[in-house]
Amino acid sequence: MILLITLAVLLWAIQAETELRDREIVQVVGACPQCTALVELNWLVCPHCRTRLSDSCKRCQHSKMINYRHCPHCGHDGGEQS
Ligand SMILES: [Zn+2]
Ligand SMILES: [Zn+2]
Repeated sequence: MILLITLAVLLWAIQAETELRDREIVQVVGACPQCTALVELNWLVCPHCRTRLSDSCKRCQHSKMINYRHCPHCGHDGGEQS
């Protein structure tokens, strides 16, 4: 009986880990703002419609998704500097 419970807990742990991994994969995939095709966050250009996906931050020069409001590296507002 204890063996059965251990097995059940083990299976649950594996399942929870798999779910976590799936969520991580979703986080590194975004949608193209132009054609809504799935694109990876580190891609510079959409391979479907060639829309630019990434831009470089004006403050830290890291590349960021063009539809991000703030730079994920330094928090800089992506808008034009006034
Ligand atoms: Zn596209
Ligand atoms: Zn930045």
